[in-house]
Amino acid sequence: MPASTPSYVKNIIRRSLREIVDPSPSKEAERTIWEYFNSECAYCGKKLRKEHREGHIDHLVPDDTNQLCNRVLSCADCNGDEKRDKPWKEFLAQKCSSEQIEAERKSKILQWQSTHEAPVLGKGVLSKIESLANDVAARYDEILEQARRLRNKK
Ligand SMILES: [Zn+2]
Repeated sequence: MPASTPSYVKNIIRRSLREIVDPSPSKEAERTIWEYFNSECAYCGKKLRKEHREGHIDHLVPDDTNQLCNRVLSCADCNGDEKRDKPWKEFLAQKCSSEQIEAERKSKILQWQSTHEAPVLGKGVLSKIESLANDVAARYDEILEQARRLRNKK
């Protein structure tokens, strides 16, 4: 478990509030993702072993919805530093050794998206959640300050 620094705690709070309006895939849905992508990275095609926790449920578009239409199976390398904020189609092209492979993987992802289309989450809802998370963070900072003052009292 990572150190429970204030920024880590605030990030967890933000994510837990976001989960309420935009839940992450269930365990069952994750199994569906693994099956659909044949236990292979959707970008580079690397074979992944679920029991070794080699697969990641990547966001096609970072910071967009957590729902299935925006989630694909990915290896650690593709999910990590490599892709970052690059548009997924551009990243995919970079990971494929031929245009044919690229076309196959792209249509597999597009097919996945279209069969799992989800209602679009209103921008207003997400910014409200962001503002609630900021409220908690501000209150948390005040409480941290009170705790620090206690530290100095013997
Ligand atoms: Zn990969």
